[in-house]
Amino acid sequence: MTTAQDLIATADAHCAPTYHPLPVVIATGEGAWLTDVAGRRYLDLLAGYSALNFGHRNPRLVEAARRQLDRVTLTSRAFHHDRFAAFCAELAQLCGMEMVLPANTGAEAVESAVKTARKWGYRVKGVPGEMAKIVVAGGNFHGRTTTVISFSTDPQARADFGPYTPGFEIVPYGDLTAMRSALTENTVAVLLEPIQGESGVIVPPAGYLAGVRRLTRERNVLFIADEVQSGLGRTGRTFACEHEGVVPDVYVLGKALGGGIVPVSAVVSSAEVLGVFRPGEHGSTFGGNPLACAVALEVIAMLRTGEYQERAARLGERLHGLLGELLGTGRVTAVRGRGLWAGVDVAPAAGTGREISERLLARGVLVKDTHGPTVRIGPPLVIGDEELEWGVEQLREVLSGD
Ligand code: PMP
Repeated sequence: MTTAQDLIATADAHCAPTYHPLPVVIATGEGAWLTDVAGRRYLDLLAGYSALNFGHRNPRLVEAARRQLDRVTLTSRAFHHDRFAAFCAELAQLCGMEMVLPANTGAEAVESAVKTARKWGYRVKGVPGEMAKIVVAGGNFHGRTTTVISFSTDPQARADFGPYTPGFEIVPYGDLTAMRSALTENTVAVLLEPIQGESGVIVPPAGYLAGVRRLTRERNVLFIADEVQSGLGRTGRTFACEHEGVVPDVYVLGKALGGGIVPVSAVVSSAEVLGVFRPGEHGSTFGGNPLACAVALEVIAMLRTGEYQERAARLGERLHGLLGELLGTGRVTAVRGRGLWAGVDVAPAAGTGREISERLLARGVLVKDTHGPTVRIGPPLVIGDEELEWGVEQLREVLSGD
């Protein structure tokens, strides 16, 4: 029998070394649980970085995918297919917007939003293409493509991948004064995560997003909210922007939109903004394919019930209550986040984020460190109360060296 070690060695030999995964090889998954090749079970507190908000192999989503597999899976956009209209209309409606630009991955949707903003700047605002500027925040994470890493402030993500795409200005996250000064005449958009995920679940100061909304409206600049990780229920609302009563001009969505089954992403906005494209100016072979649409339609229907958002809000309170108790132990220096999403900064005495992740793995709990001392917690929203409590108890014990 092939052991986990053999599988890891083969993967290491044949896969470009862009990741440093924990030494576990998953074979199956269900709900909030994963099982490895040796039959050992793990509670998943990572949920594919928010791609698995509805859990592993959610029965409604598997059924929607299965039904579609029996009909048609891909047409390309050369033809219409019978799930496409509903996907676009219903996703736009969920966002309170009008139009959708379908894509596959988060980074691709961010790239598409950048192109949208530049075309809108040119056609509607009258900013010459070469002059267009997009303002972004320090600590951002929007994906791994060359344009997107051009405005990353993470040296690892960026170094030696130049030349970089021009046209971006980076301002400190949470700083409205810096944002105001950055919004010059040639600015076409501000692109922000309403809560920064990869940076360690950084919630901006109260009033920041509303301030950005006000400034962008005053200066006729598009506010693009990248809700790829924060959106679709994670924070206890459909969109993280809602916590500040903010409606951006453009949403970028991905991850959970495909229910952890298919890659589905989208740019969602008004007809004025997305209507700037003409046939032939943008596209994707797989964007908006029938399988993707069938799964995403089920995701949208599930979100419409409000059940998952309500659950994330209620369990999130429990999670943050329990994590708050860890602050008093001296083993944790900060806890941030909203809903079922938390960044926990581990004190140096308790170990590095990686060490904590490895010790949790040994106890049957899966998390992944981000950036040195931070452990991120973001379980599937379908996790049970007791499962969540058990998972956090394992973290508490690991931190205290029990
Ligand atoms: N935007 C945000 C906010 C993200 O967190 C991520 C992924 N972590 C992306 C974009 C990129 O998504 P993908 O990996 O699907 O390209």
